[in-house]
Amino acid sequence: MRRKLVIGNWKMNGSLAANSVLLRGIVAGYAARNADCGVCAPAPYLAQCQSELTGTPVAWGAQDVSAYAAGAYTGEVAASMLQEFGCRYVLCGHSERRAYHHETNEVVAQKVLAALNAGLTPVVCVGETLEEREAGRTNVVVCAQLQAVLDVLEASAVEKIVLAYEPVWAIGTGKTATPALAQEVHGMLRKQVAERNPVAAANMPILYGGSMKPENAKDLLAQADIDGGLIGGASLKVADFLAIVHAAG
Ligand code: PEP
Repeated sequence: MRRKLVIGNWKMNGSLAANSVLLRGIVAGYAARNADCGVCAPAPYLAQCQSELTGTPVAWGAQDVSAYAAGAYTGEVAASMLQEFGCRYVLCGHSERRAYHHETNEVVAQKVLAALNAGLTPVVCVGETLEEREAGRTNVVVCAQLQAVLDVLEASAVEKIVLAYEPVWAIGTGKTATPALAQEVHGMLRKQVAERNPVAAANMPILYGGSMKPENAKDLLAQADIDGGLIGGASLKVADFLAIVHAAG
């Protein structure tokens, strides 16, 4: 059975003082037996995560990584730097990066490679916009996003990634995909991974993201191919985040 995984995406929120309250609250309240959890913090706060979370069951990670290993890329953060600050995870291809920073499927794939080369676990985000869903293009869009990543990976490396299905129309909008609708896409993504590496597909955590909250988490997490959540807004409140983690396991 796949172990559940719940990851918080703080986005561009936080301060040293607020993070400290949040991290200490999560550590103090974490009581999951069958679910792992982590937080993806803004890069400047990764040192704080490292000092607050080392030795606890809560992992941490970053929200983006450079596709390059080092060099003249002003403002970028290399995977090796994230690794030095103890990151386990890094989000790759979050829809906000794709939309506001013009990250293409190919760029996202290079970021996934860079993360893997540094020993990080990339959380590969895929998802369709409302316009794409309404045009009946959901499957084509998310499959192309996933395929671009699968195309650059050795078959064995596919076992090292986490996938997150995040319908763009559900992110930060309060609109959640129904459990059945999310399951349909998750099942399709798992089949696509299986064509490349069946063992990876069987073991891969596929997270759902998009307005997951304590009230809807249980039903979403009960679906056969939903292995956890990528949580934005609700990850900024200790009680809400822990309620989702505990709903997972
Ligand atoms: C996200 O940012 O990945 C996300 C799912 O946000 P929210 O939970 O706020 O919809």
